[in-house]
Amino acid sequence: MPHVKAAMRECGIRVMKKVGQLPHPIEKYRRGSNHPNWRGGITPYRVKIWTSPQYKSWREAVFKRDSFQCVVCRINTHDLEADHIKPFALFPELRFDVSNGRTMCKPCHRAYGANVRHGRLVNQASFRYAVESK
Ligand SMILES: [Zn+2]
Repeated sequence: MPHVKAAMRECGIRVMKKVGQLPHPIEKYRRGSNHPNWRGGITPYRVKIWTSPQYKSWREAVFKRDSFQCVVCRINTHDLEADHIKPFALFPELRFDVSNGRTMCKPCHRAYGANVRHGRLVNQASFRYAVESK
């Protein structure tokens, strides 16, 4: 409920004005490495990709092409995830390739998505399914 949040923020600002505690303008400079809680930029590279606008548009393009439907069960139209047919971890050059993506619901993604641990594919069967069904 964004309107409630906004109202609470406004209320908070009103109170802070009353008691003379508006956030100091220096606060806006305490970002990233200037913030006391900065831990040296430890966000893993893959997380940075997942939160990037480029990744978001790749996901949306995959969903659109598959008409927002799981390609395995064709039932689920909610809880959708974009699967990398050739695994994200092993084919960095195909991470944003729409033809390497397919829409899956959460359970199907668990069942048929490729699993990579320490740079090795651990569920070969589902990877074969992935490549052959293409
Ligand atoms: Zn499914």
